[in-house]
Amino acid sequence: MVYSGKVGVVTGKDLVDLMDDARARGYAIPAVNCTSSSTANCVLEAAAKASSPVIIQVSNGGGSFLTGKGVKTPGADAAGSVALAMHVRSVASWYGVPVVLHSDHCAKKLLPWFDGMCEANEDYFGKYGEPLFSSHMLDLSEEPDDENIAICVEYHKRLSKMNIWLEMEIGITGGEEDGVNNEDVDPDKLYTTPEQVWAVYRELSMVSDQFTIAAAFGNVHGVYKGDIDLKPSILKDAQGFIGDKLMEDGLIRAAGGTRAPEKPVNFVFHGGSGSDLTDIREALDYGVVKMNIDTDTQWSYWSGVSEHQQEFGDFLQQQVGNPTGADSPNKKYYDPRAWVRRAEKKTVERLGKAFEDLRCQNILGLPPVGEPTNTFGPRRGGLPV
Ligand SMILES: [Zn+2]
Repeated sequence: MVYSGKVGVVTGKDLVDLMDDARARGYAIPAVNCTSSSTANCVLEAAAKASSPVIIQVSNGGGSFLTGKGVKTPGADAAGSVALAMHVRSVASWYGVPVVLHSDHCAKKLLPWFDGMCEANEDYFGKYGEPLFSSHMLDLSEEPDDENIAICVEYHKRLSKMNIWLEMEIGITGGEEDGVNNEDVDPDKLYTTPEQVWAVYRELSMVSDQFTIAAAFGNVHGVYKGDIDLKPSILKDAQGFIGDKLMEDGLIRAAGGTRAPEKPVNFVFHGGSGSDLTDIREALDYGVVKMNIDTDTQWSYWSGVSEHQQEFGDFLQQQVGNPTGADSPNKKYYDPRAWVRRAEKKTVERLGKAFEDLRCQNILGLPPVGEPTNTFGPRRGGLPV
C-alpha cells in the first residue's frame, strides 16, 4: 500500500493514494452525511473501530442545519458546512484514521453555497497551504450534458489549484433526498451510458485526475417499497469503453500514469440504502471507491433514541419521581448525553456493517477480517437478507 499513513483530515496526494488503493483493492470508503458534531463523531468512532479511512460529508440542508434553522440569511448553508469541517479538523486525528472532508450534491441553484465553501478553502489554503475540505460534489445532472460538463470543468480548475477533488454526477439518482425530488424522472436517465462517462472523463482529466464520477446505474436515494433495478454492469462497461479510448488516444495520464487502463475511473455509488450486497460488491469490483450513506444512519440514530425512551420511559416522564421513589431525580436519563449517546452507539454499530459491506476494514494494516455476511437491511420490497 502506498498510503503515507497520515491520520486526521487528508487532502491532495494522500487522497489520491487512498482512492488508488481503494480502486486497486476493490473496496469503497463509506461517505456518511453528517448534520451535527454528534453524527460526525459517530462516523469517526466507526472508522476507528474499522481501522479504515472514512468520508464525512455535508449536504446543503445539513450545512443550514449546522448554522441553525433559526438563521435564514443567505450564506448560512456555507457557514454551517465550514463549521462541520472545522469540528472534524479539530477532533479527527484523535481517532487515528484518515478522514476525507466532502460536500454532497450541489445543483445549479445551489452554486452560491459551493462558492461559499470555495472561498473558505481559498482562505484556509492561504493560511495553511492546504484546503479546508478534501473534496466537493457538483450535481448538474439535471442540466444538459454539455452544460453539466462545462460548469464542472470551470470549478474543477478552481478546485485543482488547491488540490481539491471534484465529484460530479452524470445521469440521475432517483428518489428523494435533502429536498431534491427525482421520483418521477424519465427511467432512461437513471442509466448512464459509457459515452457519457467518457465525455466527462476526457474533459475533466485535461485539468486534473483528482475527480470521481457518480454515474447512474439505477440507483435511488432513500429506502422504498417496490423494485429497483440496479445494473452495476453499466460501470464495468464504462470502464472498458474508457480504457479503450485511453489506449486509442494515448491519453493514459491518469494518476501520474499509474492508473490501469482496465479500470481508469473512480466511481461513486449514490442511493445505496437497501441495496443487495451482491450488487454492492459487484459495483466495488467495477471501480466504486466511495459509497454514500445517509438514510440508514438517519434510521439508526433515531432507533437509539427510541430504544432509550422505551427502556427508561418511566424515568422520562418528569424531572423528579420514578418507580424507585417519588423523590428520585431523573436527570441522568434525560441528560442529552444519555439519549444522544444511545443514538450514537446505534449508529456506530450500523456503520460497522457498512464498512464490512464495502470491504473497508483494517485498511490501515491491521490483521484481516473474516468473511462478511451482512447487507444493508431488507432489500426494497424484498425479504430481509
Ligand atoms: Zn446522492
